Amino acid sequence: MPEKLVALRLRMVKDQIVARGIRDSQIVRAMEIIPRHKFVPYTKPLYAYGDGPLPIGQGQTISQPYITAYMTELLQLRPSDRVLEVGTGSGYQAALLSCVCKEVFSMEIIAAHSARARKVLEELQYTNVHLRLGDGRQGWAEAAPFDRIIVTAAARDRVPPALLQQLGADGRLVIPLGKTVYSQRLLVYSRRDDQLIEEEDLAVRFVPLVEGGDGNLSRKAGVP
Ligand code: SAH
Repeated sequence: MPEKLVALRLRMVKDQIVARGIRDSQIVRAMEIIPRHKFVPYTKPLYAYGDGPLPIGQGQTISQPYITAYMTELLQLRPSDRVLEVGTGSGYQAALLSCVCKEVFSMEIIAAHSARARKVLEELQYTNVHLRLGDGRQGWAEAAPFDRIIVTAAARDRVPPALLQQLGADGRLVIPLGKTVYSQRLLVYSRRDDQLIEEEDLAVRFVPLVEGGDGNLSRKAGVP
């Protein structure tokens, strides 16, 4: 069984990641190693390496492996970077980031997700990942500024202002933006001196960022 999973993982990386143009060898290598099946509680291990998003409970999904890799590559990570992730979810993206940068600070609004991700990340000894339960739109002021920020749920129409404030000099921020799953785009912001440069990238589909003080969990995920 473990050999079978390793074979599936290597195939996933070859067919879904490398064949589609992800070139960063550190990302590729990390995805060959990280046991993705440990991060997806409702999916049989053999299906964890498929080419699509998977449910992680409470209407939320872990992104398709290619999107996880693609967003990570867009960040243009350097080994010394400290990264803020909004939307810990399963913890898989955090694990990937942790292999390619110095420290990861990841926030999640759903307690059950955060607790589960903590358990898996601890078990697998990703010691440079710090998790916090709370509204990631407020960022993590005590740990700011961040070299890179990645948001893994879609904001409706703008980047949460606190995140831009917590983005350091030469920082890059990647976020899906759009009111509906059909209009979402992946946006990349880069800070140069006092300027913030915006670039638009792929059309994507993400579950929405939870808005409102109480984190309204009854809201349905926006994935069709
Ligand atoms: N990066 C994750 C997948 C993210 S799915 C992974 O690799 O598995 C999006 C996640 O964002 C969900 O877990 C959802 O609960 C979380 N989320 C939504 N709104 C949030 C908010 N305002 N603050 C923090 N997390 C949020």
